[in-house]
Amino acid sequence: MNIIFGPVNSRRFGKSLGIDLSPSKKQCNFDCLYCELDPAKTMDEYEDIISVEEIMNALNSSLQNHQDIDALTVTANGEPTLYPYLSELMDEINRVKGSIKTLILSNAAKIDDEKTQEALMKFDTVKLSLDCATSRCLKRLDRSHDGIDVEKIKKGMLEFKKKFYNPLILEILMVKTINDSDEEIEALSSYLLELKPTRVDIGTIDRPPAYKVEALSYEELRKISLKFDSSLPIYIASRKKVTAKPSYYSQEDILETLKKRPLTQEDIDVLFDSKSKNNFQVLMNEKKIDKLDCGGYLFYIKP
Ligand code: SF4
Repeated sequence: MNIIFGPVNSRRFGKSLGIDLSPSKKQCNFDCLYCELDPAKTMDEYEDIISVEEIMNALNSSLQNHQDIDALTVTANGEPTLYPYLSELMDEINRVKGSIKTLILSNAAKIDDEKTQEALMKFDTVKLSLDCATSRCLKRLDRSHDGIDVEKIKKGMLEFKKKFYNPLILEILMVKTINDSDEEIEALSSYLLELKPTRVDIGTIDRPPAYKVEALSYEELRKISLKFDSSLPIYIASRKKVTAKPSYYSQEDILETLKKRPLTQEDIDVLFDSKSKNNFQVLMNEKKIDKLDCGGYLFYIKP
């Protein structure tokens, strides 16, 4: 049973170890169409529970072998907030972690629960998924356990955001014909304007999914990103191969593009040809473009 995995290197978090709170099997309150794990029946509490002591023993021995860890990512074969001792576990981790940053990846289905919020408050960064802003979409795409209600999730996130001052990242996974309609994007956009997360990551399927569903291309994700309100810091987190060739952008085009949506360095590498990159640099030198750090990612914005 592998509780600790990694280390893996990432540009954002540096050298990171993963902690799997459900190493024996998938235990989740969702059964998402796009899940990279096999389909499984949903549950609202873990059936197989490992002790805090087991996790800490595994973590301490791993930290002894890797003394240069920058981040610990709490995750699961399933949903980590279903682990009943998450708050107690975080007390233990925070006691030993020193300067290491902690991050949790959650589907947010229990974010309206007080105990879950109490546990999440103990992390340095919280990343929550929200694929749908309407209940029909949530049922269809995330195939949530009975009793999970998207309105409660949205309300819970707003409550949590009010008291959590560390980075709160929102992740939306886009699936062709399921949650990419204008109606759904508009509902997500207006909710996100109210929530004001530190950053919004938009991605798509990049590993074989549990059910037969289709990914979107980078270009399609980019078109979708332009439908969200331009003030939202949207990062296109797609590992799909980019097929479009970089194009020429005049200085006016660049400023116009930034007005519609802030851009990351990855966007610039994908979209701009070399002359456009020079134009971009000129605008930077003239201070017509600003930089903004959103949860570890640098965005270029129009001041
Ligand atoms: S929430 Fe995550 S683990 Fe659970 S079914 Fe969805 S993708 Fe899979």
